[in-house]
Amino acid sequence: MEKRPFVTLEMVRQIAKTYPTPFHIYDEKGIRENARKLNKAFSWNKGFKEYFAVKATPTPGILKLLREEGCGVDCSSLTELMLADRCGFSGREIMFSSNVTPAEEFVLADKLGGIINLDDISHIDFLEQTLGRIPETISCRYNPGGDFSANNQIMDKPGDAKYGFTKAQMKEGFLKLKAKGVKEFGIHSFLVSNALSNEYYPALARVLFEMAVWLKEETGVACSFINLSGGIGVNYRPEEEPNDIMAIGEGVRREFEDVLIPAGLGDAAIYTELGRFMLAPYGELVAKVVHEKKIYKDYIGLDACAVNLMRPAMYGAYHHITVLGKENAPLTETYDVTGSLCENNDKFAVDRRLPKIDIGDYVVLHDTGAHGFSMGYNYNGKLKSAELLLKENGDVEMIRRAETPEDYFATINL
Ligand SMILES: *Cc1c(COP(=O)(O)O)cnc(C)c1O
Repeated sequence: MEKRPFVTLEMVRQIAKTYPTPFHIYDEKGIRENARKLNKAFSWNKGFKEYFAVKATPTPGILKLLREEGCGVDCSSLTELMLADRCGFSGREIMFSSNVTPAEEFVLADKLGGIINLDDISHIDFLEQTLGRIPETISCRYNPGGDFSANNQIMDKPGDAKYGFTKAQMKEGFLKLKAKGVKEFGIHSFLVSNALSNEYYPALARVLFEMAVWLKEETGVACSFINLSGGIGVNYRPEEEPNDIMAIGEGVRREFEDVLIPAGLGDAAIYTELGRFMLAPYGELVAKVVHEKKIYKDYIGLDACAVNLMRPAMYGAYHHITVLGKENAPLTETYDVTGSLCENNDKFAVDRRLPKIDIGDYVVLHDTGAHGFSMGYNYNGKLKSAELLLKENGDVEMIRRAETPEDYFATINL
């Protein structure tokens, strides 16, 4: 599918007068429409709720609008819990899916009334010692081990992942929690990240639904919610087809009717913890071309670097690039598009076919709305950019200011 940015050259020229590049910008309309589509796709399930994975985009201006669309939040650290609290989320709107969890994080999750999703069977005793009791509602994270394949495109190795309980531990954990007085149970599993297939979620759902049936038979406990976690992918590359959330919702419904309803578990609520699917396509990193260097290859240097978007440096991830104002120009050049870090992996693109670029051009890096700004760091003393929201009425609002040198020095003893 052809990739068109949601900002134009004219818009960026206007915005840059107030907010200099680089900046991340998010599309309120796209975010809201997508959240509504997700809720519609799962409207057949009466308890359905999306808990947005805060780590993807931990920005109050974004979290608040997702809350207006009926989403809760999935937190995995102390500050994410604090952020959720400050954004007005409370009680059952908060899921806490952590691992290697510090005691203070369980204390805060419990204090806020969030649902605790345990990553390890040893955390049952740890949680009880930490709180002096066990909460009435608990979820357990399942890791089926071995290899997981949903079709020939999706493969992962849960057996190599650090997360979750084994199958035997799920039963043992449920029995132990039941004996300690837990009244309401849920299960969770996260097997594949960025799955670009409508088959992943139904296949994962089947694994979890069969687990719920087995747990009911073995322990007498009926799960009241089943959390399919994150993992629905997005089409970062123009040649990829986007996922069809309506087809995914229907696929999960088929498994629900096939596995859960006959087992008498038809009251179970479906929860999701999507991050990437909710936000990635609705965020863009806008940067300006500041240098061109010609040595053995041709390099285009941006005012953004891996500090603003780490995925290409970290995993060689593809982010599509549009040169604003040259959307229809022929792709006559081959460039490496780089940032300024003293690290040779600070490249947004390698050998990318692009139109002829001039210094001063604005470029858009697509699909940076999730795991983009949030993975930022301060290597080389580089500072994180501002985040802007393109509102439905066309106004642009700053939802996080850019860091300043004072922020960088704030934690240092001089
Ligand atoms: C990261 C994460 C998510 C979100 O993953 P996406 O790939 O962004 O959908 C959901 N749940 C947990 C526990 C996670 O760690």
